[in-house]
Amino acid sequence: MSSVSHDSKSIKNDVSLREVWKARKRISAYIEKTPLLHSPLLSQKGAAIHLKMENLQPIGAFKIRGAANKILSLSQEEKERGVTTFSTGNHGMAVAYIAKQLGIRAIVCISNRVPKVKVDKIREMGAEVKIIGENQDDAESHCYFLENTEGITVIKPFDDPYVIAGQGTIGLELLEQFPDIDSVVVPLSGGGLLSGIGAVLKQTDPSIKVIGVSMERSAVMHESIKAERPVVIKEESTLADSLLGGIGLENEYTFQMVKRYMDEIVLLTEEEIADGMGFMFQNHRIGVEGAAATAVAAVLHDKIKSPVKQTAAIISGSNVDPLSLHAVINDYLNRN
Ligand SMILES: *Cc1c(COP(=O)(O)O)cnc(C)c1O
Repeated sequence: MSSVSHDSKSIKNDVSLREVWKARKRISAYIEKTPLLHSPLLSQKGAAIHLKMENLQPIGAFKIRGAANKILSLSQEEKERGVTTFSTGNHGMAVAYIAKQLGIRAIVCISNRVPKVKVDKIREMGAEVKIIGENQDDAESHCYFLENTEGITVIKPFDDPYVIAGQGTIGLELLEQFPDIDSVVVPLSGGGLLSGIGAVLKQTDPSIKVIGVSMERSAVMHESIKAERPVVIKEESTLADSLLGGIGLENEYTFQMVKRYMDEIVLLTEEEIADGMGFMFQNHRIGVEGAAATAVAAVLHDKIKSPVKQTAAIISGSNVDPLSLHAVINDYLNRN
């Protein structure tokens, strides 16, 4: 690893409430405190369901919390050298957005397979784009090359205590907005979101249930927990595309933290995810991406086994191509 001056190892493989409170103070000027919306129709399923609207963040997803906390924690020299990432999704946009706000150079390394619309979007956000190699792995290696040769900091999407603490600020807002909360339903991929929220809620009250939701297709964290070590599995296309990607064979934080803090995992079919997207549009007139619809879909299809009464569902983002969203909603309205 590089010579990052701040000691990210000091937290071990956990994140404390104090780290999350610090994150909250650090990032408050850059993120929105998002509304918590009661869903009367979903609540007919039994538990009172409240939706945490992270789709309303400036880039349309919660990822700016973690990216902001990490980048703001860098030393002055590190900030001057810049930051880099290989994500073309919500994390990449978050890094580009925050770096631009702070006047920091951001380089997004991508492969030549990334579609032009995505490349244009990253450039629009103010980041430099470096097109490197044939696949995601080549892009990732180039980020670490930049770190080793030029001291540019790689901003990891989930396996970093500052990123986890940033996502954990959602947990603080939940306690504030909904002190009766007894359970939370969280979309799960690399596990930064669940680790952060789980750390806050479980360290506050261990009886609060933390439920993760992934798609049946390529549920890497689920397979890793079963295998008791991080595993690599083949990626299939899914409506919940923001939940794709491995957890890293060298995972240091989120694998341990998800194991520690998650009570239950729910896996969803593509049709169930589509129903979540359709439901959000039909009942709340809100367009969300597949990953964000998973928490709603888990409730809608009665997939949660833990006893829950006062539940928050994390609506994690809204970045979906409008034509694809239109097709999913159209299909849902025809089915229902
Ligand atoms: C990244 C992301 C997730 C999953 O977050 P992890 O920290 O990787 O588990 C869920 N929803 C959306 C919209 C995302 O962008």
